[in-house]
Amino acid sequence: MAVLDFKEIPEAHLATGLQDTFEFFAREFLEFMGFKIISSPDRGADGGVDLIVEEHRHGIRGVTIVKWLVSCKHKAHSGGSVTPTVEQNIIDRLRTHNCDAFLGFYSTIPSSGLTTNLEGFRSNSNVEYFIYDKELIERHLLNSSEGISMARRFFPLSYVEWEQESPKPALIFDGEPSLKCHVCNTELLEKENDGIVVSWEAMNSDYSKVMQIEYVKWVCKGSCDDTMRNRIRRLNPHLIDSWEDIVDVTIPVKYIEWVMAIFNELHRETKYSDEAFRNIKKFMINIFPHVSRHLTTEEKARMKDLAMLEPWF
Ligand SMILES: [Zn+2]
Repeated sequence: MAVLDFKEIPEAHLATGLQDTFEFFAREFLEFMGFKIISSPDRGADGGVDLIVEEHRHGIRGVTIVKWLVSCKHKAHSGGSVTPTVEQNIIDRLRTHNCDAFLGFYSTIPSSGLTTNLEGFRSNSNVEYFIYDKELIERHLLNSSEGISMARRFFPLSYVEWEQESPKPALIFDGEPSLKCHVCNTELLEKENDGIVVSWEAMNSDYSKVMQIEYVKWVCKGSCDDTMRNRIRRLNPHLIDSWEDIVDVTIPVKYIEWVMAIFNELHRETKYSDEAFRNIKKFMINIFPHVSRHLTTEEKARMKDLAMLEPWF
């Protein structure tokens, strides 16, 4: 599904003073892709050219320079594709501006008629062409931190929504939060790794009440979980285990539920062994950045780093 809404970039033909934004975006994007800008957006009649850029191709016989004529078409507001009527006299325009190849930079897509024409130029006149359409632009932008920061400037609303839908740990501590599997040392806070947190509890004689939390361990689901169960059973065959998916504890409501449950346990008779208590604190602290928001620059200045939390252990 499309992430970036190109309608966030003002329409080109409106005299808002922002009518050049799409061309500035194109210029910045092409620079980011490695093209060298030869001529920049210019207000007024463009003679069928919005930008001229150079591509430096490094080959066996040295560098070949390809001069691209860039045509920017911002039709996101109307939603139409770019047709041959909109994109006329391509070959003449290339000749007039002494360019080798044609580059379309479109906030929608080229129509099939235009693609057919461009294919024709390629086979009959040996004229190269390339189209950056909305999908390709988006894919390049969201693939690197530099691209993402450009997306944030040109598509602020889409960016905020995208960030909410693909949450990343908040930048709170100096170091990355980390929970490594107690059996195989795999980082369980990486999205693709399926981890669980298990607590091992000693019950009273009729198994009606938890007396003490003996161990808190985080492990990969499956074989690491089995290995840990065997280890702990050897230490104490009477312990009962209960577990939760780590990813579930990163849900804000679930997280606070856990904090409250721990408070309640401490207030009642249930005790934690020293090891279990140390681990549950470590677990909650390292999960926290996945629950929380980023710090503002001002807040960051007031917090030194993770070392501030050391006294709690
Ligand atoms: Zn493991």
